[in-house]
Amino acid sequence: MNYYSLNRISPLANFRQATLNGQAPDKGLYYPEKIPSWDKQFISNLRKLDKTSIGFEIMKPYVGSCISEDQLYNIIEDTLAFDFPLKKINDRIHCLELFHGPTLAFKDLGARFLSRCMGKFSQDQDEKIVVLVATSGDTGGAVADAFYKVPGTEVVILYPSGKVSPVQEKQLTALGDNIHALEIQGDFDDCQRLVKMAFADKEMHTGCLLTSSNSINISRWLSQQIYYVLALSQWHEEVDPVFAVPSGNFGNICAGLVAQRSGMPAKHFIAACNRNKAFTDYLESGEYHARPSVQTISNAMDVGDPSNFIRIVELFEGDYTNIKNHISSMSVSDEETALAIKNAYAQYNYIMDPHTAIAYKTMQDRLEKNNEEKGIILGTAHPVKFPTVVEEIIQQDIPIPAALEEIMKKPKKALLLPADYNQVKASIKQIITA
Ligand SMILES: *Cc1c(COP(=O)(O)O)cnc(C)c1O
Repeated sequence: MNYYSLNRISPLANFRQATLNGQAPDKGLYYPEKIPSWDKQFISNLRKLDKTSIGFEIMKPYVGSCISEDQLYNIIEDTLAFDFPLKKINDRIHCLELFHGPTLAFKDLGARFLSRCMGKFSQDQDEKIVVLVATSGDTGGAVADAFYKVPGTEVVILYPSGKVSPVQEKQLTALGDNIHALEIQGDFDDCQRLVKMAFADKEMHTGCLLTSSNSINISRWLSQQIYYVLALSQWHEEVDPVFAVPSGNFGNICAGLVAQRSGMPAKHFIAACNRNKAFTDYLESGEYHARPSVQTISNAMDVGDPSNFIRIVELFEGDYTNIKNHISSMSVSDEETALAIKNAYAQYNYIMDPHTAIAYKTMQDRLEKNNEEKGIILGTAHPVKFPTVVEEIIQQDIPIPAALEEIMKKPKKALLLPADYNQVKASIKQIITA
């Protein structure tokens, strides 16, 4: 499989090149030349297959000959080493819980697949792979955990001092080894600006392979198809499910749409958004306008200009009517989100984080108007990651899961730096040459 750049200037890249580059040299997003069609038997046999075989079938055509089948199988097995349960909330709504991985967020799967592929590629690579990432909280933790002790890789994470939750800060700073945290005296935008400056700086690219690990990377994006299919392997209803996906940069929902194109049975997709609703407005008007992001209680979805929008347009060849036939969207306010958390707890004793609750609210609205339909919402984070919001709404403490206890005991190790490029650059250089 080859990948082209959606800016259509850079040359084609194979899976290895596209994964290592992250973004194409012309700054475009990579896109697969051909979406594979799955064997009908693969879908009808899902219940009999284990999760590694399912993941392997899905990823094999995308990886091609860049990784041997044996090695790919091992990478998938290791990537999927936790549970993806489909939990029944009520007669018509199930939640696919994607928060049983090491950092309790759905990003664990994509980050683990990416890190293990990079670890493999580093073996035939003289230079060290250096992953540079700016985070407002969730992404950095998933990337740190995924790359921890992956040979041939160093990870440098920039995070805004005082602006991440205590659990998130531990996930960024307590691992050590090849994971390095720079605590920046500034906000997330400063971190992102510093990372962009480093990528644009030629000197930073000498002596190492400097790369990113954000959600536009094809390895993260495409591997997310796996859990949609794992949901179907646990689905026992007589109708195909409607999927509601908490959406920010739209990588997650775009993976679901690609899976549907390959043959996964899905009745419809709902892009569940908070007040950041560039996509919701696009479906309504046919015109896309990027917006400045606004702050909400579902902050991992505070994105004003979703980077994967362009991939959705590509998948449907720019056909607006066809996009509308497959996807609808709804924007949910903080008040409605809080009410959804409260109601799900009161009615079904189910505790949701704010992102998942938005999907729940959009699904309820849709099912009210469509009596024959049933749905799956994607649970993208564990409620304990947003304790101040959730505990106040449900008036109940959420115990810290055992998976987090160990890291909460470890000491924080981070280098405190001003938001100054020269100082950040010097620190990164030191980490690379150490
Ligand atoms: C990142 C994130 C999202 C948004 O996912 P996209 O793929 O960017 O649309 C939703 N929920 C949570 C909890 C997240 O961390």
